Amino acid sequence: MHQVVLGLGGNMGDRLSLLKNARKLLTQQMSLEKESLIYQTAAWGGESKTPYLNQVLVLTTNLDAIDCLDFILNIENQLGRERVIKWGDRTMDIDILYYDYEIINTERLKVPHPYMVDRNFVLVPLAEVLPDFVHPQMGKSSMVLREECEDSLKVKPWCDIS
Ligand code: AMP
Repeated sequence: MHQVVLGLGGNMGDRLSLLKNARKLLTQQMSLEKESLIYQTAAWGGESKTPYLNQVLVLTTNLDAIDCLDFILNIENQLGRERVIKWGDRTMDIDILYYDYEIINTERLKVPHPYMVDRNFVLVPLAEVLPDFVHPQMGKSSMVLREECEDSLKVKPWCDIS
């Protein structure tokens, strides 16, 4: 079994239902081990945009990394069909943050996700669920990455999943 850590987020449509639907679809092929609270984050690029809801899930699966990517892209497509998507706005974006302790650097897939260390909306929920997990390239735990992150966007707990 492999441990896969996913970052989920969206700022369009019924954001909470979309997160719940994504989790339901993911657990058809993966087992849920841990989930963060849901956090709200202001969208880049202006006040007119709806804030994002973000969450990090820790799952286990038999799928190899590229099959995980195809699986999550399929779920994004299923959930994306519910709305017309404006440029930059998303019904559901799912990123593979970690796949075991692997470093993957192919054209289609880069793991750990290259931008995760720059984003509070990833590091805040990640530090909640996996505070001591060490980033295989940075050699730093989620807690340390969160403390060192210079992202100024505020990430606030939004509600519990229950
Ligand atoms: P975006 O919609 O901006 O998240 O980009 C999706 C594309 O990023 C996918 O088609 C993947 O091929 C590529 N990608 C590269 N690394 C990752 C990753 N760690 N998680 C998700 N998508 C990735």
